[in-house]
Parts: sequence; C-alpha cells; structure tokens
Amino acid sequence: MKRFLTLCIMAIVLPTFFCVHAKSADNRDAKSADAADREILFQVSLLQGLMLGDFEGSLPISELKEHGDIGLGTFTGVNGEMIVLGDHVYRAAGDGSVEEAAADERVPFAAVTFFDVDEQESLDGSIDFAALRKRLDEKVATLGVNRFYFIKIKGLFSRMNVRSALKQNPPYDKTLVQVMEKDQRFFNYENVAGTVVGLYCPAYMNMLNAAGWHMHFISDDRAKGGHVLGLEIKSAQLEWDYTNGFQMQLPNSKSFAEFDLQVDQSEDIKKVETNEKH
Ligand SMILES: [Zn+2]
Repeated sequence: MKRFLTLCIMAIVLPTFFCVHAKSADNRDAKSADAADREILFQVSLLQGLMLGDFEGSLPISELKEHGDIGLGTFTGVNGEMIVLGDHVYRAAGDGSVEEAAADERVPFAAVTFFDVDEQESLDGSIDFAALRKRLDEKVATLGVNRFYFIKIKGLFSRMNVRSALKQNPPYDKTLVQVMEKDQRFFNYENVAGTVVGLYCPAYMNMLNAAGWHMHFISDDRAKGGHVLGLEIKSAQLEWDYTNGFQMQLPNSKSFAEFDLQVDQSEDIKKVETNEKH
C-alpha cells in the first residue's frame, strides 16, 4: 500500500516537475525574444505607398502599440500627424488640435520601436533646426550611418514650426504631394515645452521610407503638435536609441498590390517632408 502511494505521488509530482521546467525554458525564450524585439524598427507599409495615395489604413492602433512605445506616422485618410509616446498614440490634426487616436483606428504608414536610452546629452543655448540636424548628422557619422536611430528631445523650444494635413476622404485619388499642396496647414508656436520624436533612416532606405531625419512634435500639455519643419531649442535633453533590426508589415489590400513602387520618389518625399516652398 505504501509503495502504491509513493508511485501515485511520483505520478503526480513528476509530470508537474517537468511541466514547470518546460515552462521556465519557454519563458526564457520569450524573454530573449522580447529583448530582441525592442531593437527592431517596425514599419507599417512604405512611405512610398502613402506618397502614391495609398491612404487606407491597414494595421489598427491597438496592434501598432504592440511593436513600440515611440514613433511617428499617419492615419487613414492622412488624418493628421501621428506621435507615439509611451502607451499613447496622438493625432496632431489638420486644424491644429491634438487628440488620442482610438484603438481601432487604422494606420497606412508608421514607424515605431521600443525606446531604450543608449546615450543622452544636454542641448543648451539657442539651437535652430539646421544646427540641430548638423549636430545629429555629425553624431550619426561617428556612430555609423547604416543603422537606424530613434531620438527623443524633451525640453523647452523658443520656436516650433509644425504642419499637419487635413483628412482626405475616399476615393483617394490624389498623391501625397497633391494633398500637401492644398490641404497642408502650418502652426507656429513660441516658448512651448514638449517632446520631439525623431527617426533617422540610412540612405539605402530611400525606396521604403525617407532617408535621413524625420521629426514630429507634441507639447507637454498635449494640445499642440505636428510634423516639424523648423524649431529653435532653448534647453533640452536629447536621448538616443540605436536600432539594428527592421521589420515591415505590408497591407493586404488590392490597391496596395497595384501601386508601382519601383519608381524612385526621393525628390517628392523631400518636397513633402521639408516643404521647401514654405
Ligand atoms: Zn511627418
């Protein structure tokens, strides 16, 4: 009887023992996968698709959030500029207002990552957009030009020039250049506290995204924001996240399948991103 009892106990305990071990190994794998995922630039579609007029969102905000806590992009219908910060996805709309986007709203283009501070520095004194980009480019030249960098600049800006686009309605029959010609709105602020979210893409990304720097801004009071066209930093903290991985999620739509993405759109992208006429 005693032996039978021992066997019974073994029968119960052993599978549990192995089960617990198998589970902890799984957890370890999951953890290392999580750590690797944090170093990935996750991109929804191509900026070049958006340029050609593919404004229909594919991925919902709720799923985008699973891939990062910092980033930029736009929404279905190019309905404003997207700023991802922490667990929040904000829309800086074409009328100048800022709101948090709904979880089921969809994204035609965005780039996000999980932000881990690899390096930080203070930016003091009067630094304008050209001086900032020069400083950032010099740093990238030292760190290596062929990987991705996300930056966060939090502080006080004596000047902030942003733009956003008015929402487009289907059928989407304009290119992004055509939208920006008529439906781009500009907002100029002074002495505003907030955060600039910036992404650097290497030159070889010019068929998938915008090579170089792309920055969006949101104020601390979450009332102002947009795509950065100009600025002047009063004092700020600059944080860097070096990012080596890249993952792209393409739309499954018929319209996306039919766009000609072999055309080099670098010049049009430059026009849209920097608004050179402004
Ligand atoms: Zn932008």
